[in-house]
Amino acid sequence: MGKLNGKIRDFSFNGQHIVNLLLLAVIFIAAGYMIYNAGAAADINININMQDGVTIRENSATSAHFIFYAILVLSLAYGVMFVMPIGGADMPVVISLLNSFTGVAAACGGFLYDNPVMLTGGILVGSAGTILTILMCKAMNRSLKNVLIGSFGAKPTAGGGASKEQGNYKEVTISDAAVMMRYASKVMIVPGYGLAVAQAQHVCHELEKLLEEKGVEVNYAIHPVAGRMPGHMNVLLAEADVPYEKLEEMETANAQLPTTDVVLVLGANDVVNPAAKNDPSSPIYGMPILEVELAKMVIVNKRSMKPGYAGIENELFFQPKTSMLFGDAKSVLQQLVAEVKTL
Ligand code: NDP
Repeated sequence: MGKLNGKIRDFSFNGQHIVNLLLLAVIFIAAGYMIYNAGAAADINININMQDGVTIRENSATSAHFIFYAILVLSLAYGVMFVMPIGGADMPVVISLLNSFTGVAAACGGFLYDNPVMLTGGILVGSAGTILTILMCKAMNRSLKNVLIGSFGAKPTAGGGASKEQGNYKEVTISDAAVMMRYASKVMIVPGYGLAVAQAQHVCHELEKLLEEKGVEVNYAIHPVAGRMPGHMNVLLAEADVPYEKLEEMETANAQLPTTDVVLVLGANDVVNPAAKNDPSSPIYGMPILEVELAKMVIVNKRSMKPGYAGIENELFFQPKTSMLFGDAKSVLQQLVAEVKTL
């Protein structure tokens, strides 16, 4: 949670993977010891004479308890150490992987308690989570191994959020943005994390309906890792009753962008960063993106020039065809709706 809301930054040290592996080995050895030795000792002690047996059994139970709590603490430490170095654009894959682990854990619980419902539920969550993890990896163009040991955040450009000047950017007013969209024939909306934070999905749908009524074709371009959880944008827009056929997947949207007049980027940043295509030194290099710069005009709504989740600058904001529309997504959209109504 800390990493997702940006309070905790990626963290790694030299040899962390070795420490992690050692920790995992200790957890497995301790678990094995607890199952075979402490448990076996307790069984044997039952056959020893009453008086002594009680004392020895108590000792075994105490040591089993101790190992159990030690495993709990070590597992917690392992979980934190496992996730800490992974960051930036790789987080969706980790979230989906952890999700699938909950299913596997539930399935193990099903075995333990001989509970078929728990077992089936666990298998479903575990397998769905694993499939989602693989799909997420494909969407990010990364292998799972790279995600888990690649330490995204270790790259010098990521994580710090340092802003390097890339030139000048131009701003657009609400009324100009409204005119651009009202008189376009094709508009593509790119929702991102900022739209979710601002809870602007309903007013966004209102703008889309208004533009459609005025004869503008409006669609949404959905990047698979936009937002902060798998399928975030689909859920968000479904909540606002946006028709499903208006949501274009990344590939279809990219094919449509060259014939699009205006792209309205709402609180999205990393998923439209051209550095993923052009800059081999960028930590997001290789990740497929929505190529919004192919459209005739791009309007980007966000509150400032701050970088997105991956902590890197976005050269899109400095391109000649891009205009910045600063402000909270919800209030900007409300003003746009009011303005478009007058046109
Ligand atoms: P980003 O985090 O890259 O950018 C979001 C932008 O929204 C910010 O630059 C921010 O700029 C702006 N913003 C924040 N609040 C508001 C607001 N109230 N109104 C308007 N704008 C706002 O989001 P993207 O969706 O483009 O990319 C998702 C990123 O998150 C990717 O790096 C992805 O890998 C990662 N991620 C995705 C997960 C998933 O499962 N989908 C899970 C974990 C991480 P400003 O502060 O200037 O307003």
